[in-house]
Amino acid sequence: MKDFVEQIQKRRTFAIISHPDAGKTTLTEKLLLYGGAIQQAGIVKGKKGARAAVSDWMEIEKQRGISVTSSVLQFEYDGYCINILDTPGHQDFSEDTYRTLMAADSAVMVIDAAKGVEAQTKKLFKVCTMRGIPIFTFINKMDREARNPFDLLEEIEQVLGIETYPMNWPIGSGKDFKGVYDRNAKEILAFQNVGKVGTQQAQKIEAHLGDENLDQLLTKPLHDTLKDDIELLDGAAYEFDKDKVDHGKLTPVFFGSALTNFGVEPFLADFLRLSMPPLPRTSDRGEIDPCSEDFSAFVFKIQANMNKAHRDRIAFMRICSGRFERGMDVYHVQGGKKIKLSQSTQLMASERETVDEAFAGDIIGIFDPGVFSIGDTITTAKVPFAYAGIPTFAPEHFARISQVDTMKRKQFVKGMEQIAQEGAIQIFKELGGGMEEVIVGVVGVLQFEVLEYRLKNEYNVDIRRNDLSYSYIRWIENEDLDPKTLNLTSDTRRVEDFKGRRLLLFTSPWNIDWALEHNEGLRLSEVGR
Ligand code: GDP
Repeated sequence: MKDFVEQIQKRRTFAIISHPDAGKTTLTEKLLLYGGAIQQAGIVKGKKGARAAVSDWMEIEKQRGISVTSSVLQFEYDGYCINILDTPGHQDFSEDTYRTLMAADSAVMVIDAAKGVEAQTKKLFKVCTMRGIPIFTFINKMDREARNPFDLLEEIEQVLGIETYPMNWPIGSGKDFKGVYDRNAKEILAFQNVGKVGTQQAQKIEAHLGDENLDQLLTKPLHDTLKDDIELLDGAAYEFDKDKVDHGKLTPVFFGSALTNFGVEPFLADFLRLSMPPLPRTSDRGEIDPCSEDFSAFVFKIQANMNKAHRDRIAFMRICSGRFERGMDVYHVQGGKKIKLSQSTQLMASERETVDEAFAGDIIGIFDPGVFSIGDTITTAKVPFAYAGIPTFAPEHFARISQVDTMKRKQFVKGMEQIAQEGAIQIFKELGGGMEEVIVGVVGVLQFEVLEYRLKNEYNVDIRRNDLSYSYIRWIENEDLDPKTLNLTSDTRRVEDFKGRRLLLFTSPWNIDWALEHNEGLRLSEVGR
């Protein structure tokens, strides 16, 4: 029993968020390097001609050099068991990122030191604050010309509305980036590269501010600037408050360079010290203790055909309480059925491993015969409960999709339904209609291309796409209302989603107002529940 609680306590499950190109993939890779999970960084070839991140696996990702799907990486470091949820950086896949953040206990925000807070950082940050999870900031690319660190902190505070506390402070930037000053230990970590840049762990030299030999190591101007900066910092308003960190009101900030490994290890050490093990989660029967004897998990992501050689569908689950054991019987709350979790898989880089046991905080993939939906709960509790569902985000782009070869109807329907169940696209049809004509809604247009690509590659179906002019979608909340009786503008469309919920598609906000004005009692919602 003690062993089981210990296992849960040593778990740290987090997601890395960033604007594309800020260095999320590189940092992930370096964390793996320190964890000993990979021997040498940058060994996987492919991406942008040079290398592929270990977490990329889909062909389309390699071709475009972007991450489309989220993957899970697990490794041990310094007595901790670390689960990194990799998230797609491209903005068109933000919906997938939102769901991944539901499975994380904290987030690491990577910021490019020359660019500061960027558009996608803002969006993802907002989702983190919605959940109130701790956020740690890694200001990356200090080996390049960077903005003034004080300005960067101010920007984070102003634009994101979160307090900052610099845990360490950069010494120089660009070619002169010599190391960081650890404010807690009052120690200078000067970095030196060994071997080819960034392929091995950075060597560090520890010294104290004011040490005479530092003028040689850092150069006198850098040493002087550092002394001034630290004096300013220590006198400034920044105060460390662990309670604020725990609630996402204050972000500990670290400076470094993922490329050269400088600052990665001190970041990792402090992050592990400050971040929290899995915490209780809210269900419809109150808070569930992660160390409870009852196993429970929820589905945050579904993915089909990850490996073309083995046609399959995997439901990714975040374990929220207890211990998972392969072959265990659980109750699938939404399906109302008992099921056996016989085949389970965990992903380490692109290799799959079968897991025999896992604990609260871990992510497991379960082979899904088509029974799971995103947000579903499974549990062994005698009195079953359900975790709060994951909302469906409103798509903003719509197209009519039909197959080119009408003989392939079966594959077309199967492919469309599976991809929709994964949550990559949303499909709508005429009220009470079949799948003859399907309207697809996506949050980002790139998802249309992914759909086209996947239908061709995984289902051998070519599709035709006609873009539609709708941009707004509303779920009809009145259950007893017949949408046919609604008084609507001629360019408003009545449809239903694959769960049978009724919706309206609008071309403009003006039309939404019109519908509300001309139909008394009509209730419309921006999220599908
Ligand atoms: P992602 O899109 O956030 O995953 O970013 P990547 O990790 O793919 O990095 C984008 C580009 O920035 C790549 O060419 C990296 O080699 C480069 N990069 C990442 N970290 C650093 C860094 O610390 N310094 C420098 N100079 N380049 C970096």
